[in-house]
Amino acid sequence: MTQTWLLLRSTNETWPSSHLPRLCTSYRMGIPRLHVCRATARSTRRSLTRPFASAVRPIAHEIRLDAPVSVYVHWPYCQSKCTYCAFNKYHIPAGGQDHDRMERALLTELRHALTYDPNEDAGGPAFVKRPRRRKLNSVYFGGGTPSLARPLMISKVLEYLRSVCDVPNDMEVTLEGNPTSVEVELLKDFKAAGANRLSLGLQALGDKDLRFFGRDHSAAEAHTAVEKAQGIFHRISLDFIWGRPGQTLAAWESELKRALSFGATHYSLYQLTVERGTPLFKDVAKGAVVVPDDDLAADMYEKTVEMASENGYHQYEVSSFAWHGLETNRSQHNQSYWRGYDYIGIGPGAHGRVYGADGTRFRTFRTLDPNSWMTECETTGQGMRRVVPMTLRQTLEELVLLGLRTMDGVSFGTIRQHAGVEYSIDSIINIAATNDLVSGDLLEWVYATSEMDAAVEVDGRLVRGLRPTRKGLAVIDRVVPEVIA
Ligand code: SF4
Repeated sequence: MTQTWLLLRSTNETWPSSHLPRLCTSYRMGIPRLHVCRATARSTRRSLTRPFASAVRPIAHEIRLDAPVSVYVHWPYCQSKCTYCAFNKYHIPAGGQDHDRMERALLTELRHALTYDPNEDAGGPAFVKRPRRRKLNSVYFGGGTPSLARPLMISKVLEYLRSVCDVPNDMEVTLEGNPTSVEVELLKDFKAAGANRLSLGLQALGDKDLRFFGRDHSAAEAHTAVEKAQGIFHRISLDFIWGRPGQTLAAWESELKRALSFGATHYSLYQLTVERGTPLFKDVAKGAVVVPDDDLAADMYEKTVEMASENGYHQYEVSSFAWHGLETNRSQHNQSYWRGYDYIGIGPGAHGRVYGADGTRFRTFRTLDPNSWMTECETTGQGMRRVVPMTLRQTLEELVLLGLRTMDGVSFGTIRQHAGVEYSIDSIINIAATNDLVSGDLLEWVYATSEMDAAVEVDGRLVRGLRPTRKGLAVIDRVVPEVIA
């Protein structure tokens, strides 16, 4: 859908959002480019940070490996290619999708991934394979268009996971889909196969906009699809993109009103990001189309948050809104990215983030091209393209960066769990600059109710975390660099 680039300060490394699984909204959505963030009211208060050794125990590496893990499964094919999309997607091959081969390859790679120690591929020492049954947090079937797969693919993956992992009865299993009639016909079968949450990419409610985006569904099909889906799935997320070329504030307001009237349990409301390499990018570069300027985009963002809230949808992340803000209506899978859990990514181009047996964290990158990926799975058991070790600094920056894009914010306890109890929070959080941002009503400290709960002391008060205010969330891409020490 949309993509933005994130800068990790410790390494000056940029991450394209398309390097992450679908619907990892922190990465995918266009960060609202709103008002310039100027930390106002420079505070003269002095800050003191002090670790509370008794408060948070370091996570033993064994425990870290036993933490719940999420699984992302990438289905790479689409009926047509959308003009704005920079994801790893491919037209359905001329002879049709080879479902049997794809399913075999996915299961082969999944089997490998659940016992895999990335140290081996990263040139580090070889460790024993993990014998433990890992507890699962969520499974996400994304793409591409995974609703073009067979429901059998879902049931095979889930069946295998149940046989080797601890799978909670109510575990979230999300399927992404587009509202075409072909896909809607199969929704009951996908539910029977084990999906219990549906994420539908509606994107717009007008035929002209849908054509501009290169979508292969019509507005009428979108209405029918939502209606049918609501009779089958209890948990439904609808995706919309705002900030489209030529879109006015009044037009978005009217469209959003109709979108919210569907009454889904969750909405993902993204700002359109113009991605390099897409047809849309070329059109914008040529001046053939013009996207809304920063001021209009800021107004659209504010209107989005305001209308969602008035209709009972609480913003819990920059572009994510859950009915009444309930945990059960939020995307558990996306939250696992933002909260720093391990996730295993399988399928062409899928990415993962996993701890190795020696306590090093790795990013994993699968081979992009579906045919090459399947051949690698058949010959070596997996289609791994690259394994990149993360430094502790990168892990912590990511926790801060992603945490501050959510209303829950970043927990210092979580930072200590990854870094160790002796880790001083002010090594990653610039306390003085953060205090300024707190004074400017862009961030707020989350105070601890007891010393057990605390991770740090700021200005004589016990603090366990940091979160954005509504005002701060609107400009969070400018706030975060100031927070990181
Ligand atoms: S359907 Fe989704 S993945 Fe496929 S081209 Fe369109 S936006 Fe990209």
